[in-house]
Amino acid sequence: MKAADFEYVRVRSLAQAFQELERRGDSARILAGGQSLMPMLNLRLATPDCLIDIGGLTGLRDIRPEGQALHIGALVTHRQLQESELVARTVPLLAQAVPHVAHLAIRNAGTIGGSLALADPAAEYPAVALALEATLVVQGAQGERRIAAQDYFQGLYQTARRPQEILTGVEFPVAADGGRAHFSELARRRGDFAMVGLAAQCQFDGPVIARARLAYFAVSDRPVLATGAAAALQGRRPDDDALRAAQAALRADLDPASDLQCDSATRLHLAGVLLARAVEQMRQSA
Ligand SMILES: Cc1cc2nc3c(=O)[nH]c(=O)nc-3n(C[C@H](O)[C@H](O)[C@H](O)COP(=O)(O)OP(=O)(O)OC[C@H]3O[C@@H](n4cnc5c(N)ncnc54)[C@H](O)[C@@H]3O)c2cc1C
Repeated sequence: MKAADFEYVRVRSLAQAFQELERRGDSARILAGGQSLMPMLNLRLATPDCLIDIGGLTGLRDIRPEGQALHIGALVTHRQLQESELVARTVPLLAQAVPHVAHLAIRNAGTIGGSLALADPAAEYPAVALALEATLVVQGAQGERRIAAQDYFQGLYQTARRPQEILTGVEFPVAADGGRAHFSELARRRGDFAMVGLAAQCQFDGPVIARARLAYFAVSDRPVLATGAAAALQGRRPDDDALRAAQAALRADLDPASDLQCDSATRLHLAGVLLARAVEQMRQSA
C-alpha cells in the first residue's frame, strides 16, 4: 500500500513548528526519523493531512551534561547514542539498551525523541527512562514543561505530551558511584521488538543492594515498575535467596497480556528469567 496524500512542511525553527501545529490542529503529525511514522502512513494506520518535518532543527541534536543530568536532544539518533562515549560513561543503562533497538539501518535514522513520543509498550527507551527516573522535556507555544517519566507514560501509545507540543529532549540522571545497570530482553530474532524486556538500575551500599528500580517492558500497555520484586532485593546481597524472594514478588507485580508473540504465563516466566540474569550479573560485578 502507499500513503494517502499529505502536505509536507520542513520547519526552520521550533516557533514555526508551533505555528503549524496550532494552525493545523489534529490533522498534522510531527516527522522525525520517520522509522515508525512512514510504515504507519504506508499501511494507512495514520492518515495525517500534513507532516511537519523537524529534522532540520539542529538545536535538538545535542548530547550535553546539565548539572547532575545528561541532556539528550529529541533528534539524537539511536546510532549517535550507540557511538557516544559520554552516554556510555554517564548513562550506562541507556548505552546497554541501544543495540537492542531495531537494526542498523533503522538506528541510523530513528531518534530517541521519536521513540519516547510514540511510547510503544515494547520499546526499550521508555523502560530505561522509567528505571532511571528521567525527565521528559516538552515545549509548546505556551512554553516548556518538564514531566517525570513515571507521569509521562499513560497508556498504549499515550503520553502526557499534548498534541500541540513537541518533545524537545530528555534528561537522564548521571549514574552515581555504586550504581549498577543491567539491560536485557528476549525477542524472537535480534532486532525484533521484545517479547519481554527489563531495564534494571540498582544502587549498592558495599555488597548490599540499597535501592533497586526494575522497569519491565512489553508486559503491559506501558513500561511497568516491579516494585514488589525491587523491595525484595533491597537491603540484601544479590544472592540466590534474594533472587527467589524477588521472583516470588514479581508474580504479583506483573499481569502480562497474551498476544501473537507469546501468552501471559510464558511472559511472566520470561520476566523471572530476566530477573535472574540481572541478579547474576550484579553478583558477578559485586
Ligand atoms: C522493522 C522495525 C523494527 C523496529 N524495532 C524497534 C525496536 O526493537 N525497539 C524500538 O524501540 N523501536 C523499534 N523500531 C522503531 C524505531 O525505533 C523508531 O526509530 C522510533 O520508534 C521512532 O523514531 P523516529 O525518529 O523514526 O520517529 P517518527 O517515525 O518520525 O515518529 C514516530 C511518532 O512520534 C512522533 N514524534 C516524533 N518525534 C517527535 C517529537 N520530537 N515530538 C513529538 N512527537 C514526535 C511522530 O509524530 C510519530 O507519531 C522499529 C522500527 C522498524 C521499522
